[in-house]
Amino acid sequence: MIPTIAEDERAVINQIDRFCSKVLAPKAAQLDEESLFAGLHLPAMADLGVLGMNLPEEFGGIALSGPALYCAIEAIAGACGSTASMLTAHFLATESILLGGDPDLKNRVLPDAAAGRTLGAFALTEPQAGSNPADMSTTAIREGDGYRIKGAKCFISNAGAADFIVVYAKTDPSAGGRGVSAFVVDPKVTDGVTISPNERTMGLKGGHVFGISLECWVPVCNRLGAEGTGFRTAMKVLDNGRIEVAAQATGIADAALKAAISYAKDRQVGGHPIADFQGLQWMLADSATDLAAARALAMQAAAKRGTGERYSTESAHAKLFATEAAWRIADRALQIHGGYGYTRDFPLERYLRDLRIFRIYEGSSEIQRTIIARGLLS
Ligand SMILES: Cc1cc2nc3c(=O)[nH]c(=O)nc-3n(C[C@H](O)[C@H](O)[C@H](O)COP(=O)(O)OP(=O)(O)OC[C@H]3O[C@@H](n4cnc5c(N)ncnc54)[C@H](O)[C@@H]3O)c2cc1C
Repeated sequence: MIPTIAEDERAVINQIDRFCSKVLAPKAAQLDEESLFAGLHLPAMADLGVLGMNLPEEFGGIALSGPALYCAIEAIAGACGSTASMLTAHFLATESILLGGDPDLKNRVLPDAAAGRTLGAFALTEPQAGSNPADMSTTAIREGDGYRIKGAKCFISNAGAADFIVVYAKTDPSAGGRGVSAFVVDPKVTDGVTISPNERTMGLKGGHVFGISLECWVPVCNRLGAEGTGFRTAMKVLDNGRIEVAAQATGIADAALKAAISYAKDRQVGGHPIADFQGLQWMLADSATDLAAARALAMQAAAKRGTGERYSTESAHAKLFATEAAWRIADRALQIHGGYGYTRDFPLERYLRDLRIFRIYEGSSEIQRTIIARGLLS
């Protein structure tokens, strides 16, 4: 059953929709062309409460339900993929603190993050540990009233602009995933945090990603929860993050399908709109079906968010199906645009470039299949 969205939440989504068409969509091509950081939208998004959509009211958030949050992220991604990617990276950071931090840390960091006064980043991946983060080699070794963190992270969204970075590091290097702990690092005031230049990526060019080199000290009070709980926290955060990647995928796919429908009605070939050709009608029908199925799976996972139940499998189904379906939908939409779809005068090629990473980050399609198969075989 597709979950319903409450009236007051629907009003928030409508307000975000209006903001998307008035502010985000008109700037999306420019962000892509000029690799402009989507952070330029932060003040306006902060005014709408968007930076705290995932957080409870006690920390200044607007506490949208899982399904409403899904719809809001979908709308933002449909208007500007880069902005959605920056926003969801911020959510990975705040969710880490919400799910893993103690009350003092939550009260210290989350209200500013919810209000958009600060921007977060989530640093799990390392040059030698992407799909299997338990192999990480960054360490956090006790030193006085804190920890000395040493290591390197890569591909960290938002890091260059972040006010706080949630860094995952091993407090017990011999214990694999059980030795991982998480820490809040404040890169703007902490010595020994070096951020490398923005990576040159294929898509989501306004959602900047950076390498981080760490040789810094943080106080004990910046640790999230008990030592050794970091890996579990990261996995729970990614259960939510993967639903948000599905939302980004269906948001862009929806925009691509709408563009294809409108173009097919307008474009004349041989004296007919190309929408008259059954071959293209079937492409549109397949895309609409893919999109409906992707949304249904993702909403099913989103409805479990915050219930206390585990939903790793549902979240893997959602990410796997939505990201692969979105690719098919955008590819068909580009095909329907013919040669014009391949030019930068239309957004189709950007949609495809932006979508491609969704099958890789927050656990590749192969890793989602591994999670699903593990559930089947256990
Ligand atoms: C634009 C962008 C933004 C990102 N943002 C962040 C961020 O904010 N924070 C963060 O921590 N990370 C981030 N990442 C990192 C991202 O999550 C990793 O790139 C991803 O998890 C894959 O890791 P990897 O690149 O090391 O690939 P690898 O782990 O080296 O994988 C290479 C290939 O092997 C496959 N593979 C690996 N293991 C298996 C297996 N067991 N079975 C089958 N196939 C397998 C993979 O699917 C892939 O096809 C970002 C990456 C990019 C490009």
